[in-house]
Amino acid sequence: MADYDLAIIGGGLNGVSLARDAVGRGLRVILVEQGDLGSAASSASSRLVHGDLASLERRRVLRVRAALAERDVWLRIAPHLVRPIRFAIPAHAEERPTWQLRTGLWLYDRLAARKRLPAATTLDVTHHPIGDALKRPIGTAFAYSDCVVDDSRLVVLTALDAAERGAAIRTGARCVRADRDRIWRLAIIHRGHRRIVTSRALANATGAWSVSTAETVLRQPPPRVVARQISQIVVPRLFDVDAVYVFQNHDGRLIFAQPYERDFTLIGTVAHEIKGEPALVAMPAPDVAYLCRAANRYFRSDIQPVDVVRTVSGANMMLRAAGGERLETVVSLEASRTQAPLLTMCGGDVTTARRRAASC
Ligand SMILES: Cc1cc2nc3c(=O)[nH]c(=O)nc-3n(C[C@H](O)[C@H](O)[C@H](O)COP(=O)(O)OP(=O)(O)OC[C@H]3O[C@@H](n4cnc5c(N)ncnc54)[C@H](O)[C@@H]3O)c2cc1C
Repeated sequence: MADYDLAIIGGGLNGVSLARDAVGRGLRVILVEQGDLGSAASSASSRLVHGDLASLERRRVLRVRAALAERDVWLRIAPHLVRPIRFAIPAHAEERPTWQLRTGLWLYDRLAARKRLPAATTLDVTHHPIGDALKRPIGTAFAYSDCVVDDSRLVVLTALDAAERGAAIRTGARCVRADRDRIWRLAIIHRGHRRIVTSRALANATGAWSVSTAETVLRQPPPRVVARQISQIVVPRLFDVDAVYVFQNHDGRLIFAQPYERDFTLIGTVAHEIKGEPALVAMPAPDVAYLCRAANRYFRSDIQPVDVVRTVSGANMMLRAAGGERLETVVSLEASRTQAPLLTMCGGDVTTARRRAASC
């Protein structure tokens, strides 16, 4: 008999969510994380728990509705981690027309099944604290509700919950080889010692390492995914209100500026496909300059790359779907009568991680 029903490689948000869900269903679970919990992409996120307003422009209405439903679940089960905050989109004469923003926000509010949060409104920012940090002649902004989360704490507390329900959570434990037969046999280097564990099923939840894990550790066909680096900058605090600003940039991209660690502002994001070791992702200088320019279109304070205190970058995976489309969530289950099941789960957003794990 195998030691466990499910072995999970990777202690990011996907891995720990899977562990919590599986142990809650009565499975015997072990999770191995080579570093610390949430030390990769899951602690580099923009910390938004949201329906992703921009997805409405891409007509992904069902996706937005599902994410907004999950936002409600987080507010109910983790109000100590996920908190509502007002978002403000300053109207800019050269960007989306106001009717489009109004319509989008009206729909966004309607798609939220429970009306837990204040609805969208139009603000005259010349007489509102949200306008204090903004350049003139910006006179109007659209305010709506979404949430922010402390992403690393979410990972750690999800893992803690899984552990309290009986899952074995091992940090500093690198899976170096997994042999597949009717059960999986994993070789793990845990704090300098080599250990073998067996499991009826295996989950590859190694995020941006999913391909290298499949190729070199599991020796299985890799998932057809592309790695994407997402980056943000941290600058000294640019505004005093507890709100997230959403700026429309020339290229149509929405740029977020939000309060960060009390004295700072986090501005992001820029994304690129990458190749190579995900642990080494670093933000290129042109991307830093791009985010400074985007913020300078709206904020009174002028920020330059020298003002950047640090950059925050992470890498995650997207599915290369037929027709060249890129899907953000990668979940695949491969099973046969003679071979133990292999689940691959990577990418996706923080907001829907709980639901993604439950759907496996
Ligand atoms: C910069 C950025 C901003 C984002 N912003 C948002 C946002 O605002 N809102 C939102 O909803 N989503 C956001 N996302 C998406 C979300 O944060 C990520 O998709 C999610 O956290 C990915 O989690 P993961 O568990 O798949 O990967 P990771 O967190 O990268 O975890 C993978 C883990 O596997 C471990 N590992 C690898 N190989 C091995 C091995 N052989 N043995 C043991 N362990 C191994 C690694 O050490 C790592 O800890 C953002 C993503 C990024 C990168």
